[in-house]
Amino acid sequence: MCGIAGVFGSPHAPEYVFFMIYSLQHRGQESVGISSSDGEEIYTVKKPGRVLEAIKKEDILKLRGNTAIAHVRYSTAGGSGALNAQPIVRETHLGKLAVVHNGNLVNFLTLRKELEQKGIKFQYNSDTELFLALVEEGKTFIPPGVELHPRDKEILPHVFYALKRAKGAYSLLFLFKDKLIAVRDPLGFRPLVIGRKERALLFASESCAFDILEAELWRELQPGEVLVVDEAGIRSYRAFPPERKAQCIFEFVYFARPDSYIFGDWVYDVRKEMGRQLAREDDIDADVVIPVPDSGIVPALGYAEEKKLPFEYGLIRNHYVGRSFIEPTPELRNLRVLMKLSPNRAVLKGKRVVVIDDSLVRGTTSKRIIGMLRRAGAREVHLRIASPPVVGPCYYGIDTPTKEELIANRMPLEDIARFISADSLKYLSLEGLRKSVKNAGDFCDACFSLNYPLEVEDLKLTGADKI
Ligand code: AMP
Repeated sequence: MCGIAGVFGSPHAPEYVFFMIYSLQHRGQESVGISSSDGEEIYTVKKPGRVLEAIKKEDILKLRGNTAIAHVRYSTAGGSGALNAQPIVRETHLGKLAVVHNGNLVNFLTLRKELEQKGIKFQYNSDTELFLALVEEGKTFIPPGVELHPRDKEILPHVFYALKRAKGAYSLLFLFKDKLIAVRDPLGFRPLVIGRKERALLFASESCAFDILEAELWRELQPGEVLVVDEAGIRSYRAFPPERKAQCIFEFVYFARPDSYIFGDWVYDVRKEMGRQLAREDDIDADVVIPVPDSGIVPALGYAEEKKLPFEYGLIRNHYVGRSFIEPTPELRNLRVLMKLSPNRAVLKGKRVVVIDDSLVRGTTSKRIIGMLRRAGAREVHLRIASPPVVGPCYYGIDTPTKEELIANRMPLEDIARFISADSLKYLSLEGLRKSVKNAGDFCDACFSLNYPLEVEDLKLTGADKI
């Protein structure tokens, strides 16, 4: 998963996107990058690591202009490392342009092979570069019924062509010398919201990026919408009208920050409702409800409220450690759990504890947490998960492990409970999850249901075809 941010029309654009991307740090910690434009040239800085440590004042000073885009990366396609940091910048027949992308394409390898056969070169391993390579291919497409503004006639048909060919999940920001283009894929897998601050137009994966600037949330970009902003104003094209939506329900379960507004709702409200639903489906008797911080806090509040049980902090989090799952190797992830959480004996001793987490993926985190709670004196430990068992990998941008690594595919519920040494284990039902959002039909819940809304064309490649 990744986070993206953009600003058009402010002399402070580079600083603004720096703050915005900092507030989206939870969406990726591997690398950070910013590109800006002063109307003539595009300037870029990309670094491995987290925003505050990686980007220095001197870097920001090098970035000039009234328009900027930024990215925090968490590797999905293309592997980790600074090489695939974004923005990806490329010289094309339309001039130099930069792009940031949140999501994952399902036909990247297939298309890359096709383009390489035509002599188009790729510098990186990430699917994001495909958008620029498709622009470079030079072909055009104008969706039926779309009337182009005279200022968009040169560039947009190339962008539309790229969007028509690339399939999958993509929220994108393109930075041209004199304009910014925001795009959301037709199924709307990933969020993208629009905000305003004075005369500037802002874009971000989540609305929490506007709060950090005391900017206002204007609206969400619609699935299939392409929005252009330049000196002449804002032009919105409903270029790829969706037949249905497939917004990622896992954004609500785990990924997005609880204070954000995405997919027509406040994450906090939906996440809390997941906790309430879980409580309604559960008949366990206990003394206290505790969350696994931070991801379990909001569902635990809902659960405790519904059950009329006390909510306490039974685990204390060290705030200097980032998200443990986002570490690319399992060894690092394991160590991080211990660095991150400590048991609070004042709450736990002699108690029957319900511990709430947002999701169970490989089961390694829970195993360690439950051991910790027991050693701190908890009499019983009942693990409750505010989402259904994760049974399928995500091909649309969430870094879930392979099917075989998912604990729910490896053993039945009772064995999982034994493996993580919980007295009992219960998940939210798929039905309960679907009840927690306003319109379940507008969501992709393939990781829980195996109901994949978009076929993965790259999976059809043979080993020899793969790059
Ligand atoms: P585990 O069961 O040990 O694999 O870890 C599951 C925990 O990691 C969950 O409780 C979430 O808080 C977090 N998590 C789940 N899915 C993801 C993901 N795709 N990226 C980052 N963190 C995740």
